[in-house]
Amino acid sequence: MLSAFDNAMTLVEGTAKLLKFSEKYPTHKIVERLRIPDKIIMFRSTLQKDDGRMAVYSSFRVQHSDVLGPYKGGTRFDERVDLDEVKALALWMTLKTALVNIPFGGAKGGISVDPKKLSETELERLVRKYTSRLVSDIGPSVDIPAPDMGTGAREMAWIYDEYRKHREVAKGVVTGKPVEIGGSLGRLAATGKGVVCTMLEAVRELGMEDYTVAVQGFGNVGSHAALDLWKRGVSIVAVGDVTGNIHNPEGLDIEELITYCKKKGGVKGFPGSTPLKNIISCQCDVLLPCAMENVIRGRNARHIKAKLVVEGANGPTTPNADSILEERGVTVVPDILANAGGVIVSYYEWVQNREGFYWEEADVEERLFKLLRKTYARVSDYANTNQVSLRTAAYSLALGKIAKAMVARGIQ
Ligand code: GLU
Repeated sequence: MLSAFDNAMTLVEGTAKLLKFSEKYPTHKIVERLRIPDKIIMFRSTLQKDDGRMAVYSSFRVQHSDVLGPYKGGTRFDERVDLDEVKALALWMTLKTALVNIPFGGAKGGISVDPKKLSETELERLVRKYTSRLVSDIGPSVDIPAPDMGTGAREMAWIYDEYRKHREVAKGVVTGKPVEIGGSLGRLAATGKGVVCTMLEAVRELGMEDYTVAVQGFGNVGSHAALDLWKRGVSIVAVGDVTGNIHNPEGLDIEELITYCKKKGGVKGFPGSTPLKNIISCQCDVLLPCAMENVIRGRNARHIKAKLVVEGANGPTTPNADSILEERGVTVVPDILANAGGVIVSYYEWVQNREGFYWEEADVEERLFKLLRKTYARVSDYANTNQVSLRTAAYSLALGKIAKAMVARGIQ
């Protein structure tokens, strides 16, 4: 069984070695402080189902590091959620916020539950239970949850509302809220559009023209990325989700596909498409893994046809697969850069909540793309100068900043 956290730490350790942390900071134990999260909160959430029966779920919030600011990170509802995964996702948040220079640390939360099996009233009760157990650990300047897989604006509204019952009215306690209660314009599509923004930078650098794209995962990230690309006239030849993979070498109509998914619950059977067995290794020039961890592994990395992989999901590529892709000359835009659009606009939402002044959508997007392009350029320059992959460059920049902040804050 692959441990997402071990995979992430392998990269952290490798990069720390390259950066000679043990010589530079002999007394600060930088890597050790990243291996053990600041705080792990693990508890049982009980729920009374609509029929009166009781259900019990493992629930988590991992506060990984607040060395750069309040803890920040999403809340995942998925049956596969476990402590190892939440720890990995929290560590990636620490690295992501450091890389894009926003004043937050890293955290992640989740419940091991399939939200599709619950009614809306059951879900609301569960979110409120979860929040009430966390009221002493979250807050607008302590730890700020957000959406992730299986949660969205609706769940964030319940978190906000439950928190205010126990503590104070604090819009900035959670981001990704509905716009009506203090959410930011542009937050919903931010992760997907950010994936496209960094992808276009890579496409430009590689001098790719007339390329085709395959999108694995058609949730909030994958569908918004695909829609943005389709509107730009880019040909999306394959899309996959939990119901299956679909293919059309002439390009899929993404607007119609989104309408179809709303009706049918998934991409399977979309008119004009043919089923596809394997989307990771399908014929395309750019692959966007936008679903979850460890989908690109040793065994399929060798068969990938794409020249460019842009990681919309967190941790989709195992370290082993990463080496294979590097060896084969496939460019990978790493997750902590490619999918940072979500947390960047979460930061803008938090700022707007503090100011009580709300920005136009165009302003949000302009700032988002400017920051992502600037970060891409920093990562790409570092990679070229030091002859390393974009992932090693991104990890180096993030870890360099984290280490300096740890040293600045002292040992006591
Ligand atoms: N869950 C998203 C991520 O993995 C967003 C986190 C946030 O907005 O705080 O980056």
